[in-house]
Amino acid sequence: MLQSMNKINGDNLPEYKQQQWDDWRWQVAHIIRDVEMVERLLGVQFAQSHRQELQETIERFPMRVTPYYLSLVDTDDYRNDPVFIQAVPNRAELIVGPHDLVDPLSEDADSPAPGIIHRYPDRVLFHVSNLCAMYCRHCTRKRKVGDVDQIPSVEELQEGINYIRKTPVVRDVLLSGGDPFMLSDDLLDWLLSELHAIPHVEMIRIGTRVPVVLPQRITRNLVAILKKYHPLWINTQFNHPREVTATASSKLAMLADAGIPLGNQSVLLAGVNDCPRIMKALVHKLVRNRVRPYYLYQCDLSEGLTHFRTSVGKGVEIIESLIGHTSGLAVPTYVIDAPGGGGKIPIMPHYLISWSNDKVILRNYEGVITTYYEPEAYKPVRCDQNCETCRLSLRLGSAEETKTIGIAQLLADYEENSTLIPENNERVGRRET
Ligand SMILES: *Cc1c(COP(=O)(O)O)cnc(C)c1O
Repeated sequence: MLQSMNKINGDNLPEYKQQQWDDWRWQVAHIIRDVEMVERLLGVQFAQSHRQELQETIERFPMRVTPYYLSLVDTDDYRNDPVFIQAVPNRAELIVGPHDLVDPLSEDADSPAPGIIHRYPDRVLFHVSNLCAMYCRHCTRKRKVGDVDQIPSVEELQEGINYIRKTPVVRDVLLSGGDPFMLSDDLLDWLLSELHAIPHVEMIRIGTRVPVVLPQRITRNLVAILKKYHPLWINTQFNHPREVTATASSKLAMLADAGIPLGNQSVLLAGVNDCPRIMKALVHKLVRNRVRPYYLYQCDLSEGLTHFRTSVGKGVEIIESLIGHTSGLAVPTYVIDAPGGGGKIPIMPHYLISWSNDKVILRNYEGVITTYYEPEAYKPVRCDQNCETCRLSLRLGSAEETKTIGIAQLLADYEENSTLIPENNERVGRRET
């Protein structure tokens, strides 16, 4: 079965073997962890020195690839194959660049409870599993990959749930990992029901790469469980159009048919998808499968990812090639996750060229430069935060007042503050002494 894997196109297998192939448990039981197996299955032979390098890399950052995902490699040109590059180690992972960080997003610092990262005001990331079907070579949490001690116990999950329960500002919970779909159906059912029962949790999101690397895991039973906990959203991570196979498509359809809105978070990866044409083909394939491109991530500063990183300009070029040129629904937001835990920062080409008192000069995707005339008679309602007496009707019933921070604070009528000054600003420090 495995020996003939790379010749499989799914149609020419005896029925019982096809059944095995389609069973996610079979896929997981046959996960590929060593170099020899990669060579055997792909029918290729690495040079002895190359094999040695791969071995050293695996000792630092373990390998894990599903037979399904490895079967997508084009063996004629495996070195440049986007699936191979994402799945099989590269010696370059051992090179630590001058700006690389073990925990670039300072996730460990922003963790108030086991598995919980509470960074934004109203939502938390909840790492519910450290296990993945595949260890992506470009994983931003490479530091934790293969670290068996990091798999949360039920007690630890309970602590995370307790934190969310006693923190009413949390209205959005993102399950991540590891891959939440590596939990058993029963555990996932329990976890979702616990979260769903918390009154202030308005929505649950699941981040998973299972539809890409182990689509067989999307079973009818799993979908039936997920369906019980709406509003439930799923974000997956297709990085190359070749990953959107017929199998993946059928599983995405099952999820969409269950009423689950689907999004995609791609990572911009050198040698994989750093090309406007590839990205356009990918986003088109995604929307055809009812998956909304959500984010395009600039590759993080994690240790061992230097060879995957592109310039930021490459990302801007890709976004420039999409906006206006294709459906707005197919255009993701390009973001850089700020080192140090600042969160995601959107990056866009400039469309606002200039501005005067009553005119805005804009350019469109074709390079046409145009003028938008601002209204002469616009009288904004000055905001004193007293919504009761305002002529704009809010009347949400429970509209709570929130603290205004950041640039939004500088723009607010009712705020005194007109400047944001970084802590330890030297110039300001000199004034104070
Ligand atoms: C990405 C992320 C979120 C969710 O961000 P959205 O922009 O709402 O999708 C929440 N918490 C953390 C720590 C994140 O990294």
